[in-house]
Amino acid sequence: MNDAFEVERLANNIYRLRERYIAPWLRCNIWFVKGRDRDLVIDTGMGLWPLKKTLITHGGKNLTAISTHSHFDHMGGGSDFCQHWGHKLEAESFSKPSTNPADFYPFVRAETFLKDPWPDFKAEQFTLRPAPLTGYLDEGDVIDLGDRYFQVLHVPGHSPGSIALHEEATATLFSGDIVYDGDLIDNADDCDTSLFKQSLHRLNGLSLETIHGGHYDSFGSTQLNQIISNYFEGFQRMHNCDRWVRDQIKLSNKCGLPT
Ligand SMILES: [Zn+2]
Repeated sequence: MNDAFEVERLANNIYRLRERYIAPWLRCNIWFVKGRDRDLVIDTGMGLWPLKKTLITHGGKNLTAISTHSHFDHMGGGSDFCQHWGHKLEAESFSKPSTNPADFYPFVRAETFLKDPWPDFKAEQFTLRPAPLTGYLDEGDVIDLGDRYFQVLHVPGHSPGSIALHEEATATLFSGDIVYDGDLIDNADDCDTSLFKQSLHRLNGLSLETIHGGHYDSFGSTQLNQIISNYFEGFQRMHNCDRWVRDQIKLSNKCGLPT
């Protein structure tokens, strides 16, 4: 049996999948959204376990994969899907991801994997499969599932082509890594701090009930305001990723989480 994904059913025909054997401090949220005519998977994790098969087991049909951005923890499974959409600004990162394992350090290391995906797997050899985009998404595009619609917002800053998906009818936002209830990253190689701040201001102005972030648990609008104000005060921001990862590992060991 494939137990590599934790699957949780939420309201509005939305499922959250998480890679069970990736450390909680890194694993991204994989959103499976069911519609009348077709289904979406928003982000695909690190691509080490059979995601598509798992979605089909849960009734997935006419699946389109959407990557909120091209970071390794979100787009690893993109190549499994015939349709893979994202922002043009990151097209090259999707089609020619880094082949240098050092680029994934400090996030990818032995402690990242709670169980190896296959025998003889070596964390320090982790690379991604190319996952070229088969369609581009940009600000104002609408994704139609037959009975529900998602508007694309271009929210750069965490990466140049970061997108979020907004379902106005349910006041729901899939935000990717521009905002989640954890330490936000605005200073990695492809980040732009000033765009990051602009995008957060923009999200703060939306009328939302539920925000499904790229990591950690979902939250409502009050918490969104709190996260954004924490970020602007210098909290909820990853200042130094090396130290942050070391702290997360220490914390997991202390809490007796599986290692
Ligand atoms: Zn990211």
